[in-house]
Amino acid sequence: MKILVSLTLVFICTCSFASSKAPPFNASKAYKNNASIISVPVRVHLLKSEDEKNITAQITQQELEEVFNVVNLIWKQAGIKYHVESASYLPASNEKQYIQAMSKNSKLSRREKTRAMNQVCNISNQTTDVLNLCVIGKTVNGLGGVYFGGRKPKVIWPTLAKSGKNLLNPATLAHELGHYLGLKHNAEDDIYLMKGRGNNMRRKGRYEYILLSEREITVSRKNAIKLFN
Ligand SMILES: [Zn+2]
Repeated sequence: MKILVSLTLVFICTCSFASSKAPPFNASKAYKNNASIISVPVRVHLLKSEDEKNITAQITQQELEEVFNVVNLIWKQAGIKYHVESASYLPASNEKQYIQAMSKNSKLSRREKTRAMNQVCNISNQTTDVLNLCVIGKTVNGLGGVYFGGRKPKVIWPTLAKSGKNLLNPATLAHELGHYLGLKHNAEDDIYLMKGRGNNMRRKGRYEYILLSEREITVSRKNAIKLFN
């Protein structure tokens, strides 16, 4: 889903849990093994709130490392490797607005909820030489992740499901990172990373099957070089 909010490009990835059959792994031809590995630095902002535990990112350093291991397993076919440049706590901004947006009885419109998600993670002195990732407790409406484009691009990714259960879904994070590198949703089979519609929410244990198309590999490599190398 693509929504235009205040000149900011936002990709929202909803959750669904239908089953699908995975085709066998098929390494793409677009990235040859002898091509250089592109390194993408990720600055991780772990949101923290004194008042609302559902805003605070609930993840250990080891869990974060494991999540990036899976993200890199998925992106290996493109020859792109994400590495955590730094991880530090960031106090949440506009908390009241966010708590209101998270509430089951919230009267806020979808646009207002999206704005609340954007504003809860306010990165000061944001630079564009790193990929900015905000890790939050819960997203509004249990979204698996959100990418905000524009002048201050960032990915917001949750550690908790809507129910409050621990989530840590690396496939959805890998999907949002794809948006950061210029990829849009595609109309391919369910097993493709950029399919959208929550398809990555149900990939647990089958990450090695997730595919990028040849064109997506070409585009993401070009953008990763342009942005970070
Ligand atoms: Zn998406």
